[in-house]
Amino acid sequence: MINAISIDVEDWYQVSDFESVVQFSRWDDFESRVVRNTRRILELLGRHSIHGTFFILTWNAERFPELVKEIDAAGHEIATHGYAHRLVYTQTPEEFRSDLQRSLNILQDLTGKPVLGYRAPSFSITKDSIWALDVLLELGLRYDSSIFPLRDKLYGIADSYRFPYVVRQQGSQDLIEFPMSTVRVRQTNLPLAGGAYFRLLPYAFFRWGMNKLNREGKSTVLYLHPWEIDPEQPRIAARGKRGYSSHYWNLRATENKLVRLLQDFSFAPMREVLAL
Ligand SMILES: [Zn+2]
Repeated sequence: MINAISIDVEDWYQVSDFESVVQFSRWDDFESRVVRNTRRILELLGRHSIHGTFFILTWNAERFPELVKEIDAAGHEIATHGYAHRLVYTQTPEEFRSDLQRSLNILQDLTGKPVLGYRAPSFSITKDSIWALDVLLELGLRYDSSIFPLRDKLYGIADSYRFPYVVRQQGSQDLIEFPMSTVRVRQTNLPLAGGAYFRLLPYAFFRWGMNKLNREGKSTVLYLHPWEIDPEQPRIAARGKRGYSSHYWNLRATENKLVRLLQDFSFAPMREVLAL
């Protein structure tokens, strides 16, 4: 079984958890570590001959166009994480469309290739913002990977289908949803997807969960951020969206865990797993 591996290319200060203390208008004031950290991930993937999908937060692509070209030239898929990291359910459809169009224009100009995939900031396609799928279809995207089929305070559609499926169709055009991976234990979907879950939960849980799904003939999707393998990143105090922030949890252990995963499983870009 081949699993999808995806990197949401954003910098350490651009995360939703820091929104209240790091305004978008001040992003240029913070120390940028995204190029360095993304290159480290490229190195780790390269060492294992693995290609993945890089969902680029496109504000960064404007500042570091060479990084996008480098990722593309190394054979990875370039996809979009939007332009400004605004949660989808805080935007109007018009604002969402213009943020996404801006991102697509920049990325497609840089690589000369169509962008097929989208991942929302903090999985913010929920029942309240489900209209976003129609906008993705309208702008020519082929897949979305933003819906988390679980119940969480900040995101998730708990009763959503857990594996890739056609979520929208118009004429001959399809939009596929590749939901964030979960493993079902006693009627509950537990997150198997990556990020803070990957940093916090023991590696054995991931290995068990991915093996279980792979044995059932299902591909999983893993997501990571470049800042998650950077224990030296600056510290700022933020209350986080849950009243606490998971941002700095276990940063030191993540790279080794990632390497184990790269050794133990087969991975490919999202577009390849979805046969697009
Ligand atoms: Zn993000």
